[in-house]
Amino acid sequence: MVYTQKIQNAIHFSIKTHEVYQKQKRKGKDITYITHPLTVGLILSQAVASEDVVVAGILHDTIEDSVDEKKVTKEMLAKRFGLPVAELVDSVTEKDKGLSWIERKEFALEEIKAFSHDSLLLKSADVISNNTELLRDYKREGDKTFERFNAPKEESIKHTLQVIRTIVEGWPDSPLAQELTLIASKLQEIGALFFMMNNKASIIEYCDYDDKKELECPICGWHGRGEANSDSDFCLDVSCSICDKMLLVVNYPLA
Ligand SMILES: [Zn+2]
Repeated sequence: MVYTQKIQNAIHFSIKTHEVYQKQKRKGKDITYITHPLTVGLILSQAVASEDVVVAGILHDTIEDSVDEKKVTKEMLAKRFGLPVAELVDSVTEKDKGLSWIERKEFALEEIKAFSHDSLLLKSADVISNNTELLRDYKREGDKTFERFNAPKEESIKHTLQVIRTIVEGWPDSPLAQELTLIASKLQEIGALFFMMNNKASIIEYCDYDDKKELECPICGWHGRGEANSDSDFCLDVSCSICDKMLLVVNYPLA
């Protein structure tokens, strides 16, 4: 069976939590929240994740976003959907809401480093759903899109790029890795002017260029050896392999 009883139950449970009990909306928009967990389930399903991962995707925000009168707990999910689903949802649930934005985000990055492949898949689908929506809104509304978030535009882009880098480094062959890096390069483009001003690419002469030297991306934190592009007759450049930020410009010797 494709549309299993367990998936049907997860959809029903998620609709109750996000829609029926609180008419939750997407942040700063008049769009019903339930579209997001359903999209995450759809992405996971397309990525041929297991039934439990698809179910966890549909339920992934129910602990974090449930209202106090209808509180959803890990134990409740374990009872209805089994322990593996409950643990997956719990792994992507933000733990300490009392911390500052920066502290919470740094803590989240540390947690991703310890994720199982299934948690990485779930987190990837969440990032893809949220940021595809963001990029789509940005196309229509420009910088206004970022006003509804808690952090300034560049901080929020930088954090997402760090999340993507951490996921892709944790599982380079994940079925969603390519889609994540595509989103990373589009996000980097939005902040490019700012990132360029604050983190200029180094310019060096060809005689000083060593293609085995490790580079580090100041935006997403990737390090490794980038592949050099040579679209120009005068120089070649090396960009971050996750977010595409230009890291190095190498001038060719003058003939
Ligand atoms: Zn980068």
